Amino acid sequence: MKVGVLGGGQLAQMMAQAGAPLGMEFMFLCPEADACAAPFGQLLCANYDDEIAQQQLADWADVVTYEFENIPLATVESLERKILVLPTSAALAAGSDRLNEKHGFQALGVSTANFSAVDSAADLAEAVGHIGLPAILKTRTEGYDGKGQAVLRDTADLQGAWERVGARPCILESMVPFERELSIIAVRSRAGDIHFYPVSENHHREGILRLSLSRPGDPMQAPAEQAIRRIMEKLDYVGVLALELFQLGDQLLANEMAPRVHNTGHWTIEGAQTSQFENHVRAVCDMPLGDTSIVAPSAMVNLIGQLPKEEDIRAVPSAVPHFYGKAERPGRKVGHITLTREGSSPEEFSQGLRQLLLLAGETGLAEADLGI
Ligand code: AMP
Repeated sequence: MKVGVLGGGQLAQMMAQAGAPLGMEFMFLCPEADACAAPFGQLLCANYDDEIAQQQLADWADVVTYEFENIPLATVESLERKILVLPTSAALAAGSDRLNEKHGFQALGVSTANFSAVDSAADLAEAVGHIGLPAILKTRTEGYDGKGQAVLRDTADLQGAWERVGARPCILESMVPFERELSIIAVRSRAGDIHFYPVSENHHREGILRLSLSRPGDPMQAPAEQAIRRIMEKLDYVGVLALELFQLGDQLLANEMAPRVHNTGHWTIEGAQTSQFENHVRAVCDMPLGDTSIVAPSAMVNLIGQLPKEEDIRAVPSAVPHFYGKAERPGRKVGHITLTREGSSPEEFSQGLRQLLLLAGETGLAEADLGI
């Protein structure tokens, strides 16, 4: 099978690494000449809206998928007229606008934080009247890793907030005093089979994911599965879908979904029988899905901005470094480390994780009670 991928970053790279042993070949359409996926397939270096490059990709590939949701919808729709694209443009559209996404969740009975549309600075004051403070103003499109967001704690923060997020259509969301941030990752085949991974518990700093812990047997597994199943079935979804959730007591609120493999599922490479990357390419290539059960409880530490020394990581038993081959730059995801608990006690696992968090510069998390 020949798989075309829109995007050439680490997610595309890990898809290609998972697909190669299954006999798959990859071509990446990506505007960056130094795309880190390039060594794992052919690189079509062009803008997404380049018609000639799109045609080349469609002529070469058996199926096309994508690694991130900020691909222009028009690109996916235009490719769809030439070749099968999975997940479909309808799935991409459902999650690409925060307002429509939240209405979609609610229509399926999936709860969310209170929200209100904001189309002007004047709307903002009115929305704060409905939603209250604290609240978060988010652009409806193109925000990720906390970009395009402004936290409003008191009325003074309203001053200039609309301009700060770029004076673009937004939603105002009430700030959820969550106990935990969770995500669930599931995969649906072309035949409609759905497999769920155990939920991940996620820790962010400055809007960027720093740590994910797999939580097999979590009490929130069943409601998380129910929510993502409804979304997948409604969209006739094919591939891996991630749903980010806030837990408040025994309630789960959906924050956002990502129609792609997800950073909170990187632990599945070593920690699950079949990784999210393998299952994604299996689904889009119409192959039977692999087992999503865990090998052992595991954790994933993101490496942001810079890489520690590889030998320091390898000194921690059961730690596996993944370096993406990207240039180091502040705030950039340049790698991750997985730690599995296979063959070690909970104490050894906890000790190893603290060492890794220190290597990643996450001193706060290294000292926190992570409940393991
Ligand atoms: P997002 O871009 O929507 O994924 O937001 C990035 C991060 O900001 C989330 O992972 C949360 O840590 C935080 N956040 C976003 N929305 C809310 C909210 N309504 N209440 C509390 N925290 C939030």
